[in-house]
Amino acid sequence: MNRRFEGQVAVVTGAARGIGLTIAERLRSEGAAVVVADLDRTQAEAAAEELGPKAIGLALDVRSEESVDSCVRKVQATFGRLDVWVNNAGLFVLGAAVSQPLADWTLQIDVMLTGVFLGARAAARVMIPEHQGAIVNISSIGGLGGWPERGPYNAAKAGVRNLTETLSGEWAAHNVRVNAVAPGVIRTKMTDALVTSGVANMDQYSLRHPMGRMGRPEEVAAAVAYLASSDASFVTGVTLRVDGGWAAWDGVPEAEGNV
Ligand code: NAD
Repeated sequence: MNRRFEGQVAVVTGAARGIGLTIAERLRSEGAAVVVADLDRTQAEAAAEELGPKAIGLALDVRSEESVDSCVRKVQATFGRLDVWVNNAGLFVLGAAVSQPLADWTLQIDVMLTGVFLGARAAARVMIPEHQGAIVNISSIGGLGGWPERGPYNAAKAGVRNLTETLSGEWAAHNVRVNAVAPGVIRTKMTDALVTSGVANMDQYSLRHPMGRMGRPEEVAAAVAYLASSDASFVTGVTLRVDGGWAAWDGVPEAEGNV
């Protein structure tokens, strides 16, 4: 394994479980000291414990300016630096637009769009004076096109893509890079919940990916690690699809009888 993050400090939001935890594991395995930041403090601390002495768990609500800024202050007090910030925290509430409560809209936009802005801004305020840093935002294939009953989720993820481009332009001259990853459907508790509640079918999700399967959290983490590392030192403003060809494919799913 590379040690691309030796001596660096990385914060991953929403890292108590799922894709975020896998990103934290990947960055730690490549030498970074890692902050597992999550709404679920107990789980964040337990995950950090598993990652060993160079990891800490912190309570964080990405919707709150005070919580985000306080998290950054704790990171600086503990480690004295901040090199990588990954905006991963997310949630998903399915709902038809005509009947969707405003609270469902607000919650998803607050966590996955406002939260990305607050995290990126707080990180950049530390990184710009140091003239170095990498921010990686988790978007989604949902942000690349329409998908019924996913209005606020997809709008937030599309917003993340644009915000990534906008912030990359603002901070490029300061050597602070801002990139995004747009995963396809990845097997985590978020997607398991859709299956358990009967609104999603894993076989159909697999078939929709031209590669014929869903993605793995490790495959998203590898892309995040690349974008956060010096291997991507001249890469900023991109949204890298990690989707088994989902967004490139515009045809009828491969199946008997289809050509
Ligand atoms: P998950 O539900 O397993 O984990 C999400 C984590 O975010 C949880 O630990 C949760 O506590 C935390 N979180 C939620 N609200 C928070 C808040 N206000 N502040 C801080 N933390 C908060 O989800 P996942 O599947 O691992 O998804 C991680 C990210 O990847 C999300 O942004 C999601 O939208 C994105 N994504 C997931 C998929 C997929 O198929 N699983 C696909 C594309 C994008």
